[in-house]
Amino acid sequence: MRKNPNHGPATRLVHAGRDPSQQHGFVNTPIYRGSTVLYPTYDAIKHRRGRYNYGTSATPTMDALTEAWTELAGAAGTVVTPSGLAALTVALMAAVSAGDHLLVTDSAYRPTRQFCDGVLARFGVETTYYDPTVGAGIAELMRENTRAVLVEAPGSQSFEMQDVPAIAEVVHGRGGTVIMDNTWATPLLFPPHERGVDIAVEAGTKYLSGGSDLLIGLTSANAKHFPAVRRTFDHFAMCAGAEDIFLALRGMRTMNLRLREHGRAGLEMARWLQGRPEVLRVLHPALPDDPGHAIWKRDFSGASGLFGVILKPCPEAALAAMLDGLELFGMGFSWGGFESLVIPFDCAPYRTATSWAPGGWGLRFHIGLEDTADLKADLDAGFTRLKAAS
Ligand SMILES: *Cc1c(COP(=O)(O)O)cnc(C)c1O
Repeated sequence: MRKNPNHGPATRLVHAGRDPSQQHGFVNTPIYRGSTVLYPTYDAIKHRRGRYNYGTSATPTMDALTEAWTELAGAAGTVVTPSGLAALTVALMAAVSAGDHLLVTDSAYRPTRQFCDGVLARFGVETTYYDPTVGAGIAELMRENTRAVLVEAPGSQSFEMQDVPAIAEVVHGRGGTVIMDNTWATPLLFPPHERGVDIAVEAGTKYLSGGSDLLIGLTSANAKHFPAVRRTFDHFAMCAGAEDIFLALRGMRTMNLRLREHGRAGLEMARWLQGRPEVLRVLHPALPDDPGHAIWKRDFSGASGLFGVILKPCPEAALAAMLDGLELFGMGFSWGGFESLVIPFDCAPYRTATSWAPGGWGLRFHIGLEDTADLKADLDAGFTRLKAAS
């Protein structure tokens, strides 16, 4: 592995985490499957000598991905977990203990909330949700026992931006930990640790995979917080499968290229949707009139392919007619793959710190790698069905 701190992120994605000279010249790190690791001597097993001890804690395949991600994210270390949600639970369990208070953005990925309100509450951690646009105002929400603040930008479904550096400054001043769900941007578009995040989570299921064919998560942390993350990962044995890690490494090599195309096509589609008479609002921080645009422009180096749309009011049957006839846009959860997706969404039932009343049906789009002309034609036909059924 030739490590050069001056290499750019695109070069790192290609070269990090593999060493052909150690694998008979083959380009990729092979899949090491296994539980047992044999020790050569009594002394070696007594003192657990050697890099590898047991399949749950580390394998060369696991190391290839965690080392590469650590480099990419600018972290001190990374663990790889069997899903993005598992990566979030490792981050949270590493940061809080019984009796602590946790602040979570009201725009967080919904299963994150369910974990906080379910598991963390059961173990004596109290969670309060806050307005994602709070910025330095987070200071007023912090209590004596506030141990961690979870941010996510842009927000799941609703796409509000957050002033992460401002929040981090306040939280660090009070000795707290900043956890971020950075799935939308990946470290390529938002270097989390450089911006003040202590523990960053990536659902690798999305853009790292790029293929809608695996579930994986990554939790990276700075030097202060990595030991706790690593310990938590070990205590839960939250290890991912070897084949999935291999596929994630494969996805990583092309992630930069794919992400740029998702971002370009996504913005083109967002602009096109903004011009449609059926659309009330487009939620995309790279659009100049988006409320979060200034923060996005300051802190992010690009956009991915996921954004939201609020339709002008129409009957539910008209919405159904639009969605049911789509040929290219699949309807299903998750995103980040090569194919375009759309889901209806409504944040109103679960928001607690802010209200959600956008004035029409919400649709979340993931723009895949198809020709945008075909995607527009598919949606155009959808809008024709919507009008006919209105
Ligand atoms: C999908 C997603 C996750 C969870 O990832 P899984 O691998 O599906 O568990 C976490 N955060 C965000 C923002 C996501 O979109």
